[in-house]
Amino acid sequence: MGKLFVFSGASGVGKSTVLTKVMKTREDLHFSVSATTRAPRPGEIDGQSYYFVSKEAFEQMIQEDAFLEYDAHMGNYYGTPKNQLEKLQNGSLVLDIEPNGAFNVRKHWPEAVLIFIAPPSMEELERRLRGRGDTSEQQIALRLDRVRWEMEQSKQYNYLVTNDQVDTCAQQILNIIEKEIGK
Ligand code: 5GP
Repeated sequence: MGKLFVFSGASGVGKSTVLTKVMKTREDLHFSVSATTRAPRPGEIDGQSYYFVSKEAFEQMIQEDAFLEYDAHMGNYYGTPKNQLEKLQNGSLVLDIEPNGAFNVRKHWPEAVLIFIAPPSMEELERRLRGRGDTSEQQIALRLDRVRWEMEQSKQYNYLVTNDQVDTCAQQILNIIEKEIGK
């Protein structure tokens, strides 16, 4: 059985770029694909980035107790389907979820390793969010509020890494993973 690595960090912080790099380096890491009711962004593929489902379908899954954890934030549902845990039979599982979800996972799996990816600074994060160009001003303001709250929660994580530079951040994460898997 592999380990559970739970990552959180601001949207726009380059978290998915870093995680993609980490996952490419180790074949024993498997990505937990969440379900969400939010619309796909350009380039996102159903079943790879997320399972994109309707609100009704998501609520049906809640009724069926199909989630390890789920949360509603930024006007949408996001949840980790329990069946993603089957991937633990072939290695370790990488979850990219926000802090409420991370703490819920920790309740079920106290040995889960929680890693927070912090932006170099709020100014840099704001710049990156705007640069992405798929987010309205109102969405940006909401996301920045959310990031401030998430940064507060990061104190309860096992590790905090700052994403100044993608390669360095990915290497720091790989070092943590190697250490934790070796324990
Ligand atoms: P985005 O819409 O930018 O892809 O993600 C928004 C937030 O939802 C991110 O902080 C991401 O980590 C979080 N998220 C993605 N999937 C899940 C999930 O399954 N559960 C929870 N609790 N949060 C999730």
